[in-house]
Amino acid sequence: MRWKTGEYAGWGRVLRAGGKMARPEKIAALRATLREEKCPAIGNRRSYGDAALNGGGHVIDMTRLDRMIAFDEETGILQAEAGITIGEITRLMAPRGWIPAVLPGTGFATLGGCIGNDVHGKNHHGAGSFGQHVVEIELLGANGRTRRITPGNAPELFRATIGGLGQTGIILSASIRLIRSGSTVMDVRESRADNLDEFMSLLEGSTATYCVGWIDATARGESLGRGILEEAEIREHAVPITEKGAKSVPMDAPRFLLSAPVVRAFNQLYLRRVPPGGRRIDRSMQDFFFPLDRVHDWNRLYGKPGFHQFQCVLPPDSARETLHRMMEKIASSRLASPLAVLKRLGEGRGGMMSFPMEGFTLAVDFPNRRESAGLVQELIDMTLAAGGRIYPAKDSVATAEQFAPMYDERADFATIANAQDPDHRLETDLVRRLKLRSEA
Ligand SMILES: Cc1cc2nc3c(=O)[nH]c(=O)nc-3n(C[C@H](O)[C@H](O)[C@H](O)COP(=O)(O)OP(=O)(O)OC[C@H]3O[C@@H](n4cnc5c(N)ncnc54)[C@H](O)[C@@H]3O)c2cc1C
Repeated sequence: MRWKTGEYAGWGRVLRAGGKMARPEKIAALRATLREEKCPAIGNRRSYGDAALNGGGHVIDMTRLDRMIAFDEETGILQAEAGITIGEITRLMAPRGWIPAVLPGTGFATLGGCIGNDVHGKNHHGAGSFGQHVVEIELLGANGRTRRITPGNAPELFRATIGGLGQTGIILSASIRLIRSGSTVMDVRESRADNLDEFMSLLEGSTATYCVGWIDATARGESLGRGILEEAEIREHAVPITEKGAKSVPMDAPRFLLSAPVVRAFNQLYLRRVPPGGRRIDRSMQDFFFPLDRVHDWNRLYGKPGFHQFQCVLPPDSARETLHRMMEKIASSRLASPLAVLKRLGEGRGGMMSFPMEGFTLAVDFPNRRESAGLVQELIDMTLAAGGRIYPAKDSVATAEQFAPMYDERADFATIANAQDPDHRLETDLVRRLKLRSEA
C-alpha cells in the first residue's frame, strides 16, 4: 500500500492531524493493510471536527472504493461500495426515478460516512435517519474477517455500526433502500418568520415532506430568531429550470469578510430575498438538498484559522426556552456567521450513538476566533442542562464529561466496539477525545 504522509483536517479546519493516508482501489489491498497497521476508515472528511482524523497514525481514505454493485428495480435496494458519495448516487439514480430516502446537506458525504454518523436530512421528521434505510452492511472486522450484517442476523452489532463512527469495523459496502421520485425538480415554498416563536410554530405546523429553516443568528430584540422556512415536495413531473453552475473559493478569505457588520448586512439582504408574503419556486434537487456544494471549498471563506460548528438537538419541552437563551447568547457574541439552520427532528434513529431525538435542532457556524470555542462550550452546557445532545459529526470542542450524559447507550456501544476491535486499531481522535471506547 502506498502511504502519503502529511497534514489533513476536518471540514472546519480547526482540528488537524499529521499522519499517513492511503487510498486503496481494491478490497484485497485494504484487507492486507488493516492486518499491518492500526488504521480507521474515513470518507470525504465532511465531518467538521476530528471524527475522520487519526493524529500520528494511519487512516484509510475509502473514496476510491466507489462502485455501484447491484440495483433491484422491484425493491429499490441499491448495493454500493462505501466510498461512493451520496450526491453521485442521487445524480445517477434520480433520472431513473429513485433517490436515497435520506440526504444530508452535502452530496460529498460518502455512503460509509452517512452510516458512520447516521446522518439526517430535511425529511427527518417523517423518514427518520439514514441508518433506518440500510438493510445490510458488509463489514470488515479488525480481525480481518468480513461479515454481512443485517438488523436480523446481528441486531446489536448492526445498531453499534449505524452511527458507530467506524469503531466496529470498516464498512466495505452497504445495501440501502431507495425511494421513488417522480422528477428531479423540487416545488419549494419559502416563508418569512419574524421571530423565534413564529419560526418554531411554523416548523411545528408544517406538513411538508421536506422542511428546513435558515435562521438569522445576528438578529436581536423583537427580531431574535427570525428567518426563512423552506418547505418542499418532489414534483411529480419535471418542469424546466435553470441549473446554477458550481464556483470555487480560490484562496483563504480575509478576516473582515466575516466581521459582525458584514454578516449582519448580508443576513438583512438574505432575508429580503423572500417577500413578506412568501413565495413559491422550482429548484433542482441538487440545489435544494446540497445548496452549499455549489461553492467548492467554501470552508476557505473562514480563512486559515477555520471555523467551529455547534449543532444540538433539544427535546420539545425545553426547546423553546433554551433556544431563546441560546439565540440571545449567540447574537450578542457577534461571532455568528450567516450559516445557521433550525429544523425539526422526529424520533427516528438507527443506532446506539445516533444523534437525532425528537425536538428541534440548531446548527450555527462560528469563525475560529479567541472567544469562539468558549462560546461553543457554553452552548454545549446549555444543551446538556436542557436534556438535549450535540452531534459528534460537527463537534470540535466538547469534553468527554459533557458528552457522556447525552448518549444513554454509550457504555453498551463501547463494550461492543471493544469486543470487535480489542486492539483499538480503528480509533480516531474524536473517539479518544470523547472517550467513546471507555466502558465506564
Ligand atoms: C455542508 C455540509 C452539510 C452537512 N449537512 C448535514 C446534514 O444535513 N445532516 C447530517 O446528519 N450531517 C450533515 N453534515 C455532516 C456530514 O454529513 C457527516 O459528517 C458525514 O459523516 C460526512 O461523510 P464523510 O464521507 O465525509 O465521512 P467522514 O467525515 O470522512 O467520516 C465520518 C465518520 O464515519 C466513519 N467512516 C467513514 N467511512 C467509513 C467506512 N467506510 N467504514 C467505517 N467507518 C467509516 C469515519 O471513521 C468517521 O468516524 C454536513 C456536512 C457538511 C460539510
